[in-house]
Amino acid sequence: MSHEILIKIRDLGVRYDSVQALEHANLDIYADDFIGVIGPNGAGKSTLVKAIMGIVDYSGTIEYSEELKRKGRINIGYLPQISSLDKAFPISVREVVMSGLQSERGFFGRYGKEERRRADTILEQASLSDLAKRPIGELSGGQLQRVMLCRAVVSEPKLLVLDEPTNFVDNRFENELYNLLHHLSERMAIVMVSHDIGTISSVVRSIVCVNRHIHRHDSNIITEEQLRNYDCPIQIISHGNIPHTVLGEHEHCPHCEHD
Ligand code: ADP
Ligand code: MG
Repeated sequence: MSHEILIKIRDLGVRYDSVQALEHANLDIYADDFIGVIGPNGAGKSTLVKAIMGIVDYSGTIEYSEELKRKGRINIGYLPQISSLDKAFPISVREVVMSGLQSERGFFGRYGKEERRRADTILEQASLSDLAKRPIGELSGGQLQRVMLCRAVVSEPKLLVLDEPTNFVDNRFENELYNLLHHLSERMAIVMVSHDIGTISSVVRSIVCVNRHIHRHDSNIITEEQLRNYDCPIQIISHGNIPHTVLGEHEHCPHCEHD
């Protein structure tokens, strides 16, 4: 995979009424990136992701490379932050995954053999083949989250963006998810928002700190000093030899007073 820039973000600003969520933010995302985006609650992580996805108004510029386009449109796999999963919808696992190909088909297109084959291929890679015909209402939270991940990548985007994908899932699923992401990272760039830097630092290759501004660190380990230079109070802990970094309390942070 090349080291070419997929997305170039310059002087990005996002404002919601009285809240300046992002300001003067710059970031380059490369084709071979696996980035962990960290920062306290309300820091602007989801806002950054939404700006990249073009679903929030912003000032500044976000340039997308030709490589990201498919059939003239920007194709980015997106797994949004969820607070709960709506499982009542009577649709099968395979149908959910195929719906990730909708933009290629056009709204009135029908799914055919080719779409089923692509859905089944990605379900197999995620060890979910046995569930293909199952209604999504019968799945566990972890299984459903993996199905949504399959949906996000079935169109083989060059960039996958995940917003706190391990919320509401158990530890075993977390590891399965990271394994799957590791495989996917060989063929697409990944940007993953997480509040748990301790775990993700062993998964990602670079860390981006968001706190209204954006700081990129080209390493998956971030030092105490780097974190101290970053606007919010941060707490560091260690388990054995592995440095674990945890975002601490931040009541006194002027940037986080909107929580
Ligand atoms: P994070 O994902 O890092 O927790 P967000 O990007 O969701 O942070 O939010 C950044 C700031 O913008 C927070 O202060 C939040 O309250 C505010 N915010 C987010 N979405 C909205 C919205 N739709 N309307 C108003 N304020 C918002
Ligand atoms: Mg968020």
